[in-house]
Amino acid sequence: MKKIVLILSILLMSSGLYAQTDDGFVADDIAQMDGFDLYPSYDVYLQMMERFAAQHSDICKLIEIGESVHNRKLLAVKISDNVEDEEFSEPEFFYSSTIHGDELCGFNLMLRLIDYLLNNYGSSDYITWLVDNIQIYINPLANPDGVYRGGNNCVTLSTRYNANGEDLNRSFPTITEPEFDFYQPEVKAMMDFAKKHYFGIAANLHAGDELLNYPWDSFYANELPLPDNSWFEHICRRYVDATHKIDPEYMLSNIAPNGYVFGSDWYKIAGGRQDYMNYFHRCREITIELSNVYNLPPDLLDEYWSKNRESLINLIGESLHGVTGRVTDIYGKAVDNAEVIVLDKDHSYSTVFTNADGYYFRYLPPDSLYEFTVYANGYESTNQIIATQNDTLVNLDFMLNSGFANYPLSVDGNDEVYFNAHCFNGKIIVESSKKIDNLLVCDLTGRIVLQTKPKYHKSEYSLDNYSQRLYVIKANCGGKIFTHKLFITK
Ligand SMILES: [Zn+2]
Repeated sequence: MKKIVLILSILLMSSGLYAQTDDGFVADDIAQMDGFDLYPSYDVYLQMMERFAAQHSDICKLIEIGESVHNRKLLAVKISDNVEDEEFSEPEFFYSSTIHGDELCGFNLMLRLIDYLLNNYGSSDYITWLVDNIQIYINPLANPDGVYRGGNNCVTLSTRYNANGEDLNRSFPTITEPEFDFYQPEVKAMMDFAKKHYFGIAANLHAGDELLNYPWDSFYANELPLPDNSWFEHICRRYVDATHKIDPEYMLSNIAPNGYVFGSDWYKIAGGRQDYMNYFHRCREITIELSNVYNLPPDLLDEYWSKNRESLINLIGESLHGVTGRVTDIYGKAVDNAEVIVLDKDHSYSTVFTNADGYYFRYLPPDSLYEFTVYANGYESTNQIIATQNDTLVNLDFMLNSGFANYPLSVDGNDEVYFNAHCFNGKIIVESSKKIDNLLVCDLTGRIVLQTKPKYHKSEYSLDNYSQRLYVIKANCGGKIFTHKLFITK
């Protein structure tokens, strides 16, 4: 019988009509989704998303991200307190599923997750804390044309591709090809959505395997260093560990003995969303492969939900573990789009930027010391050291004096070379845009008072060995030699 339905569906599809097939996987009435043990028809999916927002309008809002090739809606819900406001002091987290239309498990799990968050707000302290402090965005279905290829009431004829036959997870801009003439509509919509937000952490839900995959997908580690490798491993390990409380065998395979794998060590792809989000939006996105089976039968959905529920919720909570702060000028006015740099760690593609109200979020492993600096046009950079703590969002604000910005030595991508030295507040202050290979201070008789190799773009030296008179300071910096006269005042 199933076979006949299948053949009939294919015939109808090839004749250009949508088959309206009941394949036993689909709820075509919203009441049938009460137990979440089916996949919704397209219309029921729309009704569910609208109902989430309508029944929990204080913490849930429906967002239209865009439309597919066949004009099906790309939807997300935002879940947060003060849901109508952009709360710049709160991090933004993003889940998105089923960019491959035949990878169904995550579609259902995201609907369950939305329901769980909404219904446990106010009764569970942890869920309430997450919703009150994070702006959570969930897009259960990124490729509706792929899922409903067989018609709006059928998911078993789903396909990986969109209606143009393209693999959407190979269709995002890449580091080597950052702009296209034409974007698939689902990709363009997702890019515009990402540009409007400041997502700090995201995950993209797939099927076909059971493991986690973190960047890069398009480079080996020796081709493009991943500065946050240890943080990605830290959050992946936590995800896998929590699933093992339910099923100790889950997410363990030859490919990923620990349950997680560096993307290109598994297989290399170009145009994936994970690398796009990480590289272009500085959003730490990972890929979660939920089930070995593509079109997961509905009777297994409970099992996969129970394995992943705690991990999915905890991953949202990682948004509140790291470093945050606000960058302002001396009058307290927000400095937006300031680049927040972790010295001796960041590369030019891993730094984060302040949002429209000057807030930033930088995710780092716990219990370590990091030196931060902030780069903003028209302001002097300042450095601060911070210790990260386990499961804590530590605060590190910056107040910037106006002046000229100094790009630190440890971050690449700046060709301008400058060098400056002056005496201030009982110290010699040396600043440069490039690494100083040799710094020399002599008195006018030629006696060397200081010879050193500064580590950072800005360094300070005490005046203990100096008298109040004229000195000469000389630096080899970025292939140039700078010589300055320096009058020491004590
Ligand atoms: Zn996939």
